Amino acid sequence: MVYGKRARVRLPVVELGDRRALERWRPADEETVARARRLKEQALLDLGMTHSTIASWIYSKCSHQIPTTAVDTAAVLASGDGTCLLLYNPDFFVALGLEGVRFVLFHEARHLVQRHLFADPVLRDDQVFTLACEVTINHVAMVRLGQDGLPEIDGEPVGVDPAAIHRAYRHDLAEQGLDWLPYDDFVATDMDVYRELRRMRNPPVPGPVCVHLLLDGDALDQETVDRISSDVLRSVLIAARRAARSPAGNCSTCSTGPGARAIAPTGSGAISARTPCAATPSPPAGSTGGSSGWWTCWPPSSVPASG
Ligand SMILES: [Zn+2]
Repeated sequence: MVYGKRARVRLPVVELGDRRALERWRPADEETVARARRLKEQALLDLGMTHSTIASWIYSKCSHQIPTTAVDTAAVLASGDGTCLLLYNPDFFVALGLEGVRFVLFHEARHLVQRHLFADPVLRDDQVFTLACEVTINHVAMVRLGQDGLPEIDGEPVGVDPAAIHRAYRHDLAEQGLDWLPYDDFVATDMDVYRELRRMRNPPVPGPVCVHLLLDGDALDQETVDRISSDVLRSVLIAARRAARSPAGNCSTCSTGPGARAIAPTGSGAISARTPCAATPSPPAGSTGGSSGWWTCWPPSSVPASG
């Protein structure tokens, strides 16, 4: 993988589904591995306290969480044996620190929530779609975690900056004399970002991307696809049921934002917009939050529309 700009793109050098090979691959020193593992556990604990749905995705879907230098940063992927893997580079996690690790784990969980592992192969082969996924995930992560920017290593931001991508998009379309979407509309869903980036003369393609998007369909065994697809629907149902029992205004169990919107079609037949939660969190003024279903809740944006 490579989450972020820090590392160059490289194809995995070991079979990423081979857990033992991953653990053996140029292991970092024991102290670094131990520190990285503690950071991961603490970050998951923190997420469990504040964003339990996100933490539960990691805990329940990624039964194997492996420190390995086979990836430069971190990744989630279907292992091929019916489970998912969370891979993380110990040096990367230690360099990020707790806040950065929390961001990256949130990011990886959103790849699961937004079902990027199961996107159409044609889309997964399209780097513009990859960029669109990174834009929406990092936007949601910054909003939900209350961060103004990306995590940093040595003062350098790590990851795709959604505001910077929007600036490039806006500049490109303005030069073409075309209308462009304001930031909130631009980042509404993966497909919104993808569609708008496609209108650019030269859509920016990401350098580094997450490893799961470098893998071909062979890594996605049908068992994993079926299990996780049903898990998505089950999670949506459980969250909707919890939300229905929650006091008005308590939307803490909702999976919100672009990813949640993206998965709506999966469960939309079973879960219409009838849950009480659909009416509770009013989108902030100027936001693009819809009201057609609880999955369309849009968190208050702390990311200003750029320039
Ligand atoms: Zn990613």
